[in-house]
Amino acid sequence: MIRMPGKSFAGEAPPLSTEQLALRAELVRDVQTLASEIGERNVIHYRELTAAAEFIERSFADAGLRSRRDTYEVDDQPCHNIEAEVPGQSPEAIVIGAHYDSVVGAPGANDNGSGVAAVLALARRFAGQPTARTLRFVAFVNEEPGHFQTELMGSWVYASRCKSRGDRIAGMLSLETIGCFFKEPRSQNYPVPALGMIYPDRGNFIAFVGDLSSRKLVRKAIARFRQHATVPSEGAVLPASVPGVGWSDHWSFWQHGYPALMVTDTAPFRYPHYHQRSDTPDQLDYDAMTRVVSGVEHVIAELAQVE
Ligand SMILES: [Zn+2]
Repeated sequence: MIRMPGKSFAGEAPPLSTEQLALRAELVRDVQTLASEIGERNVIHYRELTAAAEFIERSFADAGLRSRRDTYEVDDQPCHNIEAEVPGQSPEAIVIGAHYDSVVGAPGANDNGSGVAAVLALARRFAGQPTARTLRFVAFVNEEPGHFQTELMGSWVYASRCKSRGDRIAGMLSLETIGCFFKEPRSQNYPVPALGMIYPDRGNFIAFVGDLSSRKLVRKAIARFRQHATVPSEGAVLPASVPGVGWSDHWSFWQHGYPALMVTDTAPFRYPHYHQRSDTPDQLDYDAMTRVVSGVEHVIAELAQVE
């Protein structure tokens, strides 16, 4: 296990900048659309799953991006990953993804309306920007239990198709449940007690989590994040066997030999409404989430450059 060295942001966060306030408004609006207007969205609530896919496509189009449906079937129902690409000088890509389905019985505001809202906001900011590497913003279907860590997981289908086409992917960021933050002591739990001895007991940080083969990516991402972000952060490189470490779409990329990491508030180890009907938009800390997305924007800008 490796805890990433370097200084995380500490102390009082400065007020959000004008740009960050605009970002915050987008995040609030899009979490609201996904979790309140559309609500529970999965193969059981298929109409809502489709509504979410269409909302994501419209959002990409409004950003001036053409999106592509990466389609496969589950029980004769077509399911779509939605991908929008910002072409760079090189076809080598950085993938920024989040799953748009919600677990059965939950509206999925934090899990993972927060991640999808962030992907959309980031896509708007990079649309039309010249970069060295290609950026792919992807909303994945069917991440949650039922398909979780199976070949029917949207990101598994996506990554396996990338692999068979021979796509070069320099790194993948999975934005997974990024809106819950607490200042109180003992507000953070861990999957194994040893982690609790090394990492903070306050759930006020965003975590960058990778497996051993993604070590370089985690190190680079968190170093850049810390140069800019006004929210505490922790980086961890852990064996994929530690519970929680592989619990999102980055796992699918690991299975296909691509480096990938998860950006997360640690979900079940912090958020009391995780996978509950009460995972509603009013539970999120939009100021902290804005600081996270703002920091991730700098990480993407860095990763988009070829070393
Ligand atoms: Zn999730």
